[in-house]
Amino acid sequence: MPLPMNIFDKKDFPILARQVHGNPLAYLDNASTTQKPREVIDAVVRFYEWSNANTYRGVHTLGEEATSLYEQARAQIAAYIGCKPNELVFTSGTTESINMVAHAWALNHLKEGDEIVLSVLEHHANLLPWQHVAQKTGAHLRFIPLNEQLELDMHAAQELIGTRTKFVAITHASNAIGTHVDIGRIAVMARAVGARILVDAAQTVPRMGVDLRTMDVDFLAFSGHKMCGPTGIGGLFIRESVHRELEPFMLGGGMVFSVQQEVASFMPMPQLLEAGTPPIAQAVGLAVAARYIEQHTTASELQRLEAGLCRRFIEGIETFNNDAIRIITPTAEAIERGHMVAFEVRGIHAHDVAAYLDRQGIAVRAGNHCAQPLAVYLGISSFVRVSFYGYSDETEVDRLVAALHAFLKA
Ligand code: PLP
Repeated sequence: MPLPMNIFDKKDFPILARQVHGNPLAYLDNASTTQKPREVIDAVVRFYEWSNANTYRGVHTLGEEATSLYEQARAQIAAYIGCKPNELVFTSGTTESINMVAHAWALNHLKEGDEIVLSVLEHHANLLPWQHVAQKTGAHLRFIPLNEQLELDMHAAQELIGTRTKFVAITHASNAIGTHVDIGRIAVMARAVGARILVDAAQTVPRMGVDLRTMDVDFLAFSGHKMCGPTGIGGLFIRESVHRELEPFMLGGGMVFSVQQEVASFMPMPQLLEAGTPPIAQAVGLAVAARYIEQHTTASELQRLEAGLCRRFIEGIETFNNDAIRIITPTAEAIERGHMVAFEVRGIHAHDVAAYLDRQGIAVRAGNHCAQPLAVYLGISSFVRVSFYGYSDETEVDRLVAALHAFLKA
């Protein structure tokens, strides 16, 4: 089957018309953040120009409009991930969502001797909050290792998830090396011992890879800016059956039912976890972003494009006929369903590679990818990552391969 052309029209994304160092921009850092289509930018501007007011507080027209747009956005994003609107809290992104679970649930439910199971793949955002919870409660962290193919070792997972396990927090797909995790299998193990489970879906929600009607998890976190939406907005799904176990994370306006000088009672979910003025314009922009994605593609088409670009890149590197470049990402998985390829150029620091590519107008990410323990586990201090999205195309991959070829010859 031929590779689909880029699915999102580059012309929809004003920034993609930019030149960088005199070259057309090839933006290949989409796992970090994606670019925004004109529709999203316009929706945010339109909100500020036409409907801006605070939510819930005003009985005036603008206040009602702002509230209604914010709640419409919630309903739309909830439908996008397959949950009920009251199961979706708007946050500033994956980091805040995971910290919210740590504070609103874990600190009040875990105790000395309990175990929190993570994997060695985790982004710092899904590691540091659990280090904090462990230090505060006396719970212990356990880490599921990888097998030789750099996939999650399911046998080890089965052994680690036991009667002491009270919480499992795991990524759906690694932002650093691209490994996908079979959450269904992990959820079965967690449920068998009565543990709660959180999924870091920062890399999969943007690819329509999450349907909570078929995922047996308690918490799921994602970021809007990785799916064509504005920065400063993301989501936290909390299954309804867990709502009675929550305590407010932040306290203040917007989440209270009634307040006396000494005590207060709180609103139900999702307002319970949305103290203060919410990110209204950002939520409006995110809803337009989700609509843009849904109108222009499907999960399988997007996957076919991105995995096809991974394949083209990997095959391009193979034509160099030397081992100067070592691909870190599990290649079989990348060419089947990946959206990124991580690699190192032997003997050359990843920052030097990225700086050279930048001079050609090619934006890639270099470093430890906010996963320092993973880099140590893999024995690599830093590496380069190229990552694709719906507007990426073969020309950009070919430019990248040619630029790397020239870099190695220089
Ligand atoms: N988790 C994963 C897997 C990510 O890729 C990222 C961002 O790169 C995060 C968490 C943190 O997301 P944010 O910075 O939007 O809060």
